[in-house]
Amino acid sequence: MDCRHMGRLRGRNYGVVDRNTMQMTVLMVDENGYDVDLILPIRFEVCSTCKGRGTHINPSIDSNGITGDEWNEWDDDEREGYMGGRYDIACLECNGEKVIPVVAECRLSDYQKKMYEQYQKKIADDIAYERECAMERRMESGDW
Ligand SMILES: [Zn+2]
Repeated sequence: MDCRHMGRLRGRNYGVVDRNTMQMTVLMVDENGYDVDLILPIRFEVCSTCKGRGTHINPSIDSNGITGDEWNEWDDDEREGYMGGRYDIACLECNGEKVIPVVAECRLSDYQKKMYEQYQKKIADDIAYERECAMERRMESGDW
């Protein structure tokens, strides 16, 4: 899977970030099946998907790389647009914010730690599931 698509999957799980309090709220389900808002302390790091640019080329244009053949089929205008950022979109992970919230794990309480571990596990499961679905879709369409 293209790293930008992985970025989108990660980005979706960031929850609601409050830059004033440096906290992030994520919705979780606790062991009793109740929805709970988990509030976590965060810090910001440069987004790894766009390397802090806030944009990247739309992965639907070149997620598998551009082959020499494709490149040759393009006209000058298209090539220029590609190099010049015409196909750039707001970063799928950070939404153009250039930074991503990272949970400050050293500041978590025991309760937060326990919940956050569950949350991370859920994200990992979600991403694994999405990858599987994407793989199946590719198999069905015969497009490898
Ligand atoms: Zn980004």
